[in-house]
Amino acid sequence: MSTQSSQQENKSDEDLGSALVTARRQLERATTHVNVDEGVIERLKHPTRVEQVSVPLKRDNGDVEVFTGYRAQHDDVRGPYKGGLRYHPEVNAEECIGLSMWMTWKCAVMDLPFGGGKGGIAVDPKSLSEEETERLTRRFAEELRHVIGPTMDVPAPDMGTDAQTMAWFMDAYSMQQGETITGIVTGKPPIVGGSEGRDAAPGRSVAIITREAIEYYDKEIEETTVAVQGFGSVGSNAAKLLDDWGAKVVSVSDVNGGIYDPNGLDTYAIPSHHEEPEAVMAHEAPETVTNNELLELDVDVVIPAAIGNVLTEENADDVDADIVVEGANGPTTSAASEIFAERGIHVVPDILANAGGVTVSYFEWLQDINRRQWPLERVNKELEEHMLEAWDDVRQEVEAKDLTWRDAAYVVALSRIAEAKSTRGLWP
Ligand code: GLU
Repeated sequence: MSTQSSQQENKSDEDLGSALVTARRQLERATTHVNVDEGVIERLKHPTRVEQVSVPLKRDNGDVEVFTGYRAQHDDVRGPYKGGLRYHPEVNAEECIGLSMWMTWKCAVMDLPFGGGKGGIAVDPKSLSEEETERLTRRFAEELRHVIGPTMDVPAPDMGTDAQTMAWFMDAYSMQQGETITGIVTGKPPIVGGSEGRDAAPGRSVAIITREAIEYYDKEIEETTVAVQGFGSVGSNAAKLLDDWGAKVVSVSDVNGGIYDPNGLDTYAIPSHHEEPEAVMAHEAPETVTNNELLELDVDVVIPAAIGNVLTEENADDVDADIVVEGANGPTTSAASEIFAERGIHVVPDILANAGGVTVSYFEWLQDINRRQWPLERVNKELEEHMLEAWDDVRQEVEAKDLTWRDAAYVVALSRIAEAKSTRGLWP
């Protein structure tokens, strides 16, 4: 924690933008590159609704504590709201709105028939026992029951939640509805309607997009060095795949800090957060680095795959990589994005790079509707195809209009959403 809080202290006020501030700035910036009706843009600045609920929990010692939960539903013009539920002490309404906006663009960039949602509970999941997490999740499902549904709003895992959380959530919802409704959430364990390959999908998509970016900028993957911040689901899966494909992963980190080996780390020997939480620093390596030092290493590619707002105007000038691939949601503030654009550092945005998660969520949703599971090979094959199509759509905008990757991804997303909005019209 100390590294993250000292990073926070180093940021200027301007740079401490919430997810909502960053998301709105990105939207405004993108509108200058795309010919979209102003009324549509105005509508997209506001979420359809934000549900705030109190979630009472009986602690293991018998005490009762009340937590605050949220579900922000940004836009559903192209299909049900879709996005994760996060358990984190800093969850608040503004953050959920910003994150739900990113889900709208993410689903549109991937051309999925979903809109954007995000929610969560302001709680430190590390302070809860497993039984407490289950009780809290079940009560949260009940509190949200009237605003969600398999064709209305479909939650999924995010920071601090996982497949087991989704299983409890699905069970609570189904018990109240009187029938098993697997499609209420995605990211479930495969035995209860989850999809093979869903857990690894966000990291897999980050690896695929990193590989494409490396090739696009005329580098050989075997000669590419990569630093990955965060060794949770996204970071560890991305690092391992890139390692498989020949890249040299020289640094990885968790919340306590990172390890660095200029000759490349054996990513398979380092326990991921899921296998053994916060164990990165215990792995033998020639050097250790702080989470901020990792971002400034002399490498070809940096992948921030932990928390938001880690690349700021304070450290953007010191980033040495040529390519940044956003594994986390919102790791780069608007000020840092501008510095990177001026410095010619290519930033491939979260809404493209980590979109494998929601893409396989879509596959899971289809499997639930059809009551038919796909083998892992099919999931990974279709994920690869979807990622390459989206990469290509965004690449065309980068080239046609000389845009940053983020602006180009927004152009692709906004064009699709605006067309859907104008085709449906405004009612009444
Ligand atoms: N929470 C993930 C994200 O930020 C996945 C959302 C989903 O699968 O619905 O993209």
